[in-house]
Amino acid sequence: MPLHLLSQILLVEDSPDDAFFLQNALEESRLGNHLHLVRDGAQALAFLRRDPPFELAPRPNLVILDLNLPKIPGLEVLKAMQADGDLRRIPVVVLTTSSAEEDLLTSFQYQAAAFITKPRDLDDYENVVHRIELFWLQLTA
Ligand SMILES: [Mg+2]
Repeated sequence: MPLHLLSQILLVEDSPDDAFFLQNALEESRLGNHLHLVRDGAQALAFLRRDPPFELAPRPNLVILDLNLPKIPGLEVLKAMQADGDLRRIPVVVLTTSSAEEDLLTSFQYQAAAFITKPRDLDDYENVVHRIELFWLQLTA
């Protein structure tokens, strides 16, 4: 299993509930060994670019990105990553409450690697993490 390679995950999520349940599910999975949480799109880009106060941030192997974010929306974060020759190589799993076709199409246009609709039931975050694990296995197969 190559899952140990996935050592650095950046989770971009403004909702404290969603972040809490997702963090718990990730920590129980094999994916959560180094999990970094930021709360808005501006922090996400600062982390990825190692702008202050994230000068010492590691390069994530995977970004889990909520679309509906304060300051800079998720789609703009994706677009900025895609425009950056280095950041565009980091796989992004887009997480959203909407299953709106437009969001989905735009996300894939900006090279999102996968698109997962948030569960209605917070308990179901285990399923979300399982899908991310499967996605990661495919990517590294
Ligand atoms: Mg949100």
